[in-house]
Amino acid sequence: MDVTPGTPLTDFPGVGEARAKKLEKLGLTTAGDLLTWYPRDYEDRRKIYTVAEAPPEGRVCVAAMAAEHPRLSRIRKGLELVQVKVVDHTGALHLTFFNQGYIERAIRAGEEYIFYGAVEVQGRRRTMVNPIFERMDKQSFTGRIMPVYRLTAGISNHMLAALVRQALPCAQGIPETLPQHIRQAHSLAAAEFSVKNIHFPEDEKALALARRRLAFEELFYLAVGLHFLKSRRGREGEGFPIPPRPKGDFLALLPFAPTGAQSRVMDEVSADMAGGRPMNRLVQGDVGSGKTVVAAYAGWLCAGTGCQGALMAPTEVLAEQHYKSLSALLAPAGVRVGLLTGSMTAAEKKKTRSALEAGDIDFIVGTHALISEGVAFRRLALIVADEQHRFGVAQRAALAAKGGENAAPHVLVMSATPIPRTLALIIYGDLDVSVIDQLPPGRTPIATYVVREDKRQRMYNFVRKQVAEGRQVYIICPAVEENPDAALPGEESPALNLKAVKTYADKLQREVFPDLRLGILHGKMKPREKEAAMSAFSSGQTQVLVATTVVEVGVDVPNASLIIIENADRFGLSQLHQLRGRVGRGQHPSHCVLITGTRSLEAMERLHTLASTTDGFKISEEDLKARGPGDFFGNRQHGLPQMKLADLAGDMRLLSQAQEAARTLLDQDPRLTRPENRPVWERVRRLFADTPDIFN
Ligand code: ADP
Ligand code: MG
Repeated sequence: MDVTPGTPLTDFPGVGEARAKKLEKLGLTTAGDLLTWYPRDYEDRRKIYTVAEAPPEGRVCVAAMAAEHPRLSRIRKGLELVQVKVVDHTGALHLTFFNQGYIERAIRAGEEYIFYGAVEVQGRRRTMVNPIFERMDKQSFTGRIMPVYRLTAGISNHMLAALVRQALPCAQGIPETLPQHIRQAHSLAAAEFSVKNIHFPEDEKALALARRRLAFEELFYLAVGLHFLKSRRGREGEGFPIPPRPKGDFLALLPFAPTGAQSRVMDEVSADMAGGRPMNRLVQGDVGSGKTVVAAYAGWLCAGTGCQGALMAPTEVLAEQHYKSLSALLAPAGVRVGLLTGSMTAAEKKKTRSALEAGDIDFIVGTHALISEGVAFRRLALIVADEQHRFGVAQRAALAAKGGENAAPHVLVMSATPIPRTLALIIYGDLDVSVIDQLPPGRTPIATYVVREDKRQRMYNFVRKQVAEGRQVYIICPAVEENPDAALPGEESPALNLKAVKTYADKLQREVFPDLRLGILHGKMKPREKEAAMSAFSSGQTQVLVATTVVEVGVDVPNASLIIIENADRFGLSQLHQLRGRVGRGQHPSHCVLITGTRSLEAMERLHTLASTTDGFKISEEDLKARGPGDFFGNRQHGLPQMKLADLAGDMRLLSQAQEAARTLLDQDPRLTRPENRPVWERVRRLFADTPDIFN
């Protein structure tokens, strides 16, 4: 077979339609895809043991000769055994293969093989079950460092490795995508060498070289792409100068006095917006620190000069809530607040869009719907992204592009998730950072308790007591629906006994709180139903809200004073902290109960960490330590393209080298128009495929 990167996998021997479908699940359809399907780990199979020396731990390679013809026996329907004895000068090894009848013919008496598997020693008898094997003279998966790939059902590592091996010849002479001078300056291995050695490394050193080059490459393209994203703002040039207004006029609208921190950040925002350059500011403040006020202030300033502002919220629930509170706050000042979400009817959306275009809305609150094609502004001068980690770099850029030809809107990003400084610089570049490091007065810290099942009844009594005092309660469950495989509620296996919103709410209503008004809220409900459930809770109509983590972000019901988190060990620390932040938002002493059946000491320790502090930064640090950066940044919260090899939080040094290289290149050729830089341009474009307009 003559392989090129474009060769479809169906041309590979042994890949039929069914197997091709499975490979497609992994995103693999061509030989080229296989080349960039980097291993997630490696197994060292270089050492080949004699039968007697093979250690009975882990999987090892043993060289031996088949001493007999394999014996096939059918134990019962659906259970076939092949057994064969293999030997060398040190002893005998008894092999058993389950349900692999073909092995009867695949192993021949008198031939020598390498067997790879786990040796078990029972008395003087040595055995191995289901080893991988190959003939001594045709070794390709033994006697070397083997790649370990991410897999899917029906595709074994052996199979995938065999496919990659067949695809590897097309790495021959693949075009070098890193400019020569950059490779030289940073001592990076060549492309072909790196691709070959990332899959089947010659040795540790070759692997390290390959990995370094490929990770560098990813980070380099990332840095170049981000540079394009940022310079877009620069090229759009001037901002809209928004002249300051008397701050007292705004403060008069508030039902409370701002904290010192809020007031300081408001001044920073107003100074930013008054200047000629577009504001680009990140406001970090722990849950409940009152970030919304700052957004309202910016919107109010903006409306004062006849410009428009837009606030993007990550969920519909949150958009609705912001819409309600901002219109209540700003309407008396004549600011016209609008709402645009995906679940509005076509007619409603149309009406809102034309009002935006006509300039009849001053401050629009919405979800991703704001970014969609049909939305045009009359004079968009301000973008606020709430809880930004749910938005990508790309979405913010797309909205910013709606500011029009000549001026770039001011951007205010609000976040409760502290990100390590280095990473923030990469993601946001020249972003200025404000911190709201003070909570509104009168808040009593949320008392947090870790409890076990034996306290469940007392916990329910506590719910009743809170409700009797006029307060409201959240109960958070990790699942929406009951897993059919799960144990029945009350059964001993807590890991399987995840509380599910629907069934649990029913049970609570029937058996525990027949006299209370319960509501439910979860992600699988229709937007209308969610909205109704949320407003029933914020108006106090519902006393207890049984919900999934959809309430995690931003939801604000100051009368809620108790949150119960079921199966608390299932959540990350930062997430628990966010959830806990749903209470303690008013004057009432508030409580958070973490209920768990876990037997893991480590999990208990994590929960106790949460109980002992309310400092969001400290918690996120602990989280990072416990779960590792990979997980922390795993679900693309930052909105950056997925890295295959590089670890954004782990490869900091390599990252700064890649950034430096990107800067050097772009200084010489800012638009990458030189022919020798076209491959870089192509690769960056592919990496940022979700952000097609970053190159305009
Ligand atoms: P977050 O920073 O989590 O977005 P919010 O802006 O939702 O916080 O504010 C949390 C709650 O605190 C809201 O009910 C808000 O009205 C209230 N709040 C904000 N600032 C103050 C203040 N200075 N004094 C009293 N209450 C405040
Ligand atoms: Mg908020």
